[in-house]
Amino acid sequence: MSDPPDFVSPPDFVSPADIDDADDILFHHPPRTVTRWRCACGEDYPCSEVRFALIVKGLTPREEHR
Ligand SMILES: [Zn+2]
Repeated sequence: MSDPPDFVSPPDFVSPADIDDADDILFHHPPRTVTRWRCACGEDYPCSEVRFALIVKGLTPREEHR
């Protein structure tokens, strides 16, 4: 029988302080899901045509938050 899959013993050089640090790091660095907008034409939204159309209409293309 082997250990449960989630459990791996830490390497010998790991100190208790390192484990605290690791908890902290994992807490502050959760994985993020990045949702990208896709245009119906297949490019990232806004594609160049949408960008043009938005500018013509006096709107700002929606990009990253500044
Ligand atoms: Zn498009």
